[in-house]
Amino acid sequence: MKFCVLTLFPQLVEAGLHESIFARARKKGLIELETVDIRDYTSDPHRRVDDYTYGGGAGMLIQAQPVYDAWRAVVSRFDKKPRTIYVTPQGRVFNQKLAQELAAEENLVFLCGHYEGIDERVLDEIVTDRISIGDYVLTGGELPAMVMMDAIARLKPGVLHNEESAETESFDNDLLEYPQYTRPECWHGKEVPAVLLTGDHKKITAWRLEQSKERTRHLRPDLYARYEDRQTVIAWLSRQKRQHIHMMELLRRGLGEVLCFNPLDGALLLEKGGAVMLTCTSVEAGERLLDRCPIDLSGRLFCVCSSEIIPVLYERYHLSEARGCYQAYYTRGVPLPVPKDMDIRRLDLSFAEEIFAECHELVTWEELKGRLTARTMYGAFMQSDEGETVLAGYIGTHSEGALGMLQVRTQYRGRGIGAALESFMINLALTRGEIPFGHIFEGNEASLRLQRKLKMNVTDVILWWVS
Ligand code: SAM
Repeated sequence: MKFCVLTLFPQLVEAGLHESIFARARKKGLIELETVDIRDYTSDPHRRVDDYTYGGGAGMLIQAQPVYDAWRAVVSRFDKKPRTIYVTPQGRVFNQKLAQELAAEENLVFLCGHYEGIDERVLDEIVTDRISIGDYVLTGGELPAMVMMDAIARLKPGVLHNEESAETESFDNDLLEYPQYTRPECWHGKEVPAVLLTGDHKKITAWRLEQSKERTRHLRPDLYARYEDRQTVIAWLSRQKRQHIHMMELLRRGLGEVLCFNPLDGALLLEKGGAVMLTCTSVEAGERLLDRCPIDLSGRLFCVCSSEIIPVLYERYHLSEARGCYQAYYTRGVPLPVPKDMDIRRLDLSFAEEIFAECHELVTWEELKGRLTARTMYGAFMQSDEGETVLAGYIGTHSEGALGMLQVRTQYRGRGIGAALESFMINLALTRGEIPFGHIFEGNEASLRLQRKLKMNVTDVILWWVS
């Protein structure tokens, strides 16, 4: 990922980011940072970039010309115009969700103002986003740009040593993070909570959730109210758990948001990957939810719980294909056996082409890259006849949380690799307090057999993916 910062004070940005985690990520080539001095682009012989404001008023304004020329020089080097963020107290307020959204971009340009700001005409022409770091006024945009780059960079795989640590943090699920402790076990007479020493992941997860709730209720009642709204929808969905497990898990894991909910009509959810999930009590109720949806749903993939609503989606959003799915989910809570000698490892982007060659029917290139970048795919490795270590099979989680993309290469089939990979993923989900689930397309008998062998609950066809 590359950040370009247009600023009057490039050294301030370089100095602020030349140590610790950000600097290490730069050295490893995970993050690139380019600072561009706006002053280098001024046509003024005295290198001036500012002037008085028309209409009077205190303070100077940065002129349009040097900003525009600096920006042009930067963006002309990219194939696709990158998002250009003007950091300004007048923008929408930066938060974790926005950091996650921006972390999905390949390149970002930050424009830092100074003095009274920047001539509005150039902002209108080049800026795609106006973002603030809070309701207070600073002297310049360099600190806000650094704050945002730091928050975005740490979400990129490999930037933090332990990738898990960016996965469960404050603001996931609208809850603040639980309290944490390190050695010694007793400090100033205060013991570490006993449950954390039990090694019982289920109990620890439950304790942490309670602590998170308590903390959020106390410190951030605004966030807690959002959490409770979400819980209301989950409780409603849980009345038909078999049908709704995917939607419940989406909300529980913080992988999506509620677009529209009405206990009489149903729920319309949006997952982070862009797909829409709909459950409705009747076709008319479904139409009401779609009518009330605050965003345009054209061009999106839908997952719906009733076949009757499909013609409505075809007509409204010009869709044309629906595939029925069984839903399999694991509620026994008992970890499954994984053979000790099975070499299962997390996969990274370097495996993208190898995997896509075989599983292009299950996943798009963009989704596969996204799943590998998010480090949610795992592979089983075996020794080939030539003595090389090769990828024998793999599995992952889709952006909405469903297990999937399971493939075992032909020559390695019949050795229990598929079952081991899926068991491994189920166990991983259990340690996080999640209910593992997956969708099996109608007709995929091999997958159905595997789900039953692993004692998954398998429903009849109840879901349709509409594209
Ligand atoms: N006159 C401007 C206004 O009232 O909106 C404030 C200008 S401020 C003194 C100078 C620059 O600092 C801004 O152009 C912006 O780039 C940056 N800045 C100041 N406060 C900020 C904040 N809370 N978030 C993001 N950028 C900020």
